[in-house]
Amino acid sequence: MYLKKLESVGFKSFAKRISVDFVPGVTAVVGPNGSGKSNITDAIRWVLGEQSAKSLRGSKMEDIIFQGSDTRKPLNVAEVTLVLDNHDQLLPLDYDEVSVTRRVYRSGDSEYYINNQSCRLKDIVHLFMDSGLGREAFSIISQGKVEEILSSKAEERRTIFEEAAGVLKYKQRKKKAEYK
Ligand code: ATP
Ligand code: MG
Repeated sequence: MYLKKLESVGFKSFAKRISVDFVPGVTAVVGPNGSGKSNITDAIRWVLGEQSAKSLRGSKMEDIIFQGSDTRKPLNVAEVTLVLDNHDQLLPLDYDEVSVTRRVYRSGDSEYYINNQSCRLKDIVHLFMDSGLGREAFSIISQGKVEEILSSKAEERRTIFEEAAGVLKYKQRKKKAEYK
């Protein structure tokens, strides 16, 4: 599985529709300070299910919607789509290509789609769990994360290994079953 494409409109500084193609291997995103490099990783984390505005560097979820500039009016909706190559069927779906879309309106209403079919946030979180690409996975190492991993307690570090080993999904299901 690898990330093939990111499309977005209205997310943070991306007022116009952007489409970024990725190829297997290394892609470097370069640009001046404030040009939107980190906004790309924020967009990826958001579509994977990030629910904390703070960890997206805002104070409320509305802050991720383009708020206008000297030359452009604010927008009312933010949308991000990831297209993933799934030839290796790492994602448990019978498709060679999987797209995931998230949309949020200023009213606070959210919509989620897997392969253009409306779904719940839960379905997206579940789809990526143990794939190595979930919102709490370690495929995105942000500033400060390395230090956090190195200085974390043994139990916290255990969660990192459990996610990497792919057992987190089963532990969470077990916990849920026990509460029922
Ligand atoms: P650095 O090199 O300093 O890390 P960067 O390329 O990572 O910079 P980002 O943090 O991705 O830059 O982008 C910050 C820019 O995004 C700022 O100019 C900020 O004004 C803009 N921005 C963030 N949220 C919004 C929003 N809701 N609407 C419009 N612009 C926004
Ligand atoms: Mg940055």
